[in-house]
Amino acid sequence: REALARFEDKLDVLRRFLLTENEKYNLTALTEAEDVSAKHFFDSFAAAPLLPCGASVCDVGCGAGFPLLPLALARGDCTFLGVDATEKKVNFVRAASSLLALENCRAEHLRAEELCSSRRESFDIVTARAVADLAVLCEYCLPLLKEGGLMIAYKGPGAKLELDGAKKALSLLGGSAENVIGYSLPTGEERALVLIRKTGQTPLKYPRGGNKPRLKPLK
Ligand code: SAH
Repeated sequence: REALARFEDKLDVLRRFLLTENEKYNLTALTEAEDVSAKHFFDSFAAAPLLPCGASVCDVGCGAGFPLLPLALARGDCTFLGVDATEKKVNFVRAASSLLALENCRAEHLRAEELCSSRRESFDIVTARAVADLAVLCEYCLPLLKEGGLMIAYKGPGAKLELDGAKKALSLLGGSAENVIGYSLPTGEERALVLIRKTGQTPLKYPRGGNKPRLKPLK
């Protein structure tokens, strides 16, 4: 019961901290408490039961900490690293993480492609929400995963179509589509988790430099 109260308190603290800091730094498009609960918290929790016990997790393009912070709150047994290309968002995530006393959660101001040089093939799980088209996202995420690891992409109703468009990227990068899990938010909006298993090593030439993953997607 005490643990549950602490959990709810922390969600409350995070919601308030996000909304006040957002006024100063413009961190997220959502400015209403209800939206933060449904579209950030509830949505972020969707992948919580999919993380293996003790997993090391990287959240690529974590922005203001989604799904990173709710997952780190829900899964104290796992360790989390969030990376984002925007410094003010990383600063917010660090501040939020220490406010919530999340000892299992760190954040770095880095592009995913840069993280690949120090942490290649080293995570059990890589998550990403609202970062890029799936084909592009695969080039950011798959190099970071250990063989046998799982990429979890948070997507909208177009998930299956995006997956069709990522076939070439998957075969070049050593990934294979495992499942698409549909769910809906309390607002009724449809969401889906796209699960991609890393089944083979990613060739060292990926991710390509110079923003090529985005400019010349593997399609
Ligand atoms: N995941 C958060 C933020 C989504 S906005 C959420 O769902 O609320 C997309 C974020 O991805 C931005 O903060 C942007 O800085 C970051 N981003 C885009 N490409 C990136 C890359 N290659 N490496 C790291 N961060 C990236």
